[in-house]
Amino acid sequence: MQRLSGRVAVVTGAASGIGLATVRRFRDEGATVVLVDVDEKAGAKAAAEVGGRFIAADVTSEEQVEGVFAATVEAFGRVDVAFNNAGISPPDDDSILTTGLDAWKRVQEVNLTSVYLCCKAVIPRMLRQGKGSIINTASFVARMGAATSQISYTASKGGVLAMSRELGVQFAREGIRVNALCPGPVDTPLLRELFAKDPERAARRLVHIPMGRFAHAEEIAAAVAFLASDDAGFITASEFLVDGGISGA
Ligand code: NAD
Repeated sequence: MQRLSGRVAVVTGAASGIGLATVRRFRDEGATVVLVDVDEKAGAKAAAEVGGRFIAADVTSEEQVEGVFAATVEAFGRVDVAFNNAGISPPDDDSILTTGLDAWKRVQEVNLTSVYLCCKAVIPRMLRQGKGSIINTASFVARMGAATSQISYTASKGGVLAMSRELGVQFAREGIRVNALCPGPVDTPLLRELFAKDPERAARRLVHIPMGRFAHAEEIAAAVAFLASDDAGFITASEFLVDGGISGA
């Protein structure tokens, strides 16, 4: 299927996990892909393996984010899809009882402020084109009391959800669709790192997933490609769940 033929897509957090799987899927669907990641080595390796242009950038920097979208339009003439996906899980125990202000701020900066910066940079460019699709990675934890004891992470993803809804409504008549992607637990380095710190957490989490397993990154990428494509032409301001039934249980 080549639903993104001729389209130009920017993917942040492209060097690993969901981002990398989506770069592959976008490529397979015919898109020209710009990979963005703060990890220069992994990003360059990913672009060499999968194809596409790599731009090393920290998505918490307004200047660098603006530079990514300016360079994309300069190189390829347009930007049709922005998958604002880079994110981190909190470094330590993220309970309200223990999380310090610095840790809280860092998670908001990488998970939420970055999405604001990417939307701020890409929307004026999409407005000029009269079309665009933005997919912001939130999480199932933004929609439910997940009892993850991850206060800064959950709050950051709730912000992504609310911002995406707001922007989706604001720009619906201008041809720009904005959706929040809400994955359930996905087998990626981010999740593995979290479970390595607390092995029992994996078992506790699995119990709550009706499908009884974690998602493969490719299953999330398939949903992102759908949202990016014209097949999702009437979908905006949505909370797009890809969670194995976790939030329905
Ligand atoms: P990952 O750790 O495999 O990949 C994240 C990528 O983002 C890495 O390549 C990292 O270098 C990059 N990154 C981190 N900070 C950055 C910055 N400041 N600037 C640019 N790049 C940066 O993680 P993943 O599991 O693929 O997660 C991707 C997104 O999906 C995140 O937003 C995460 O919160 C979200 N998510 C993940 C899960 C899950 O279970 N894995 C579930 C729901 C939502």
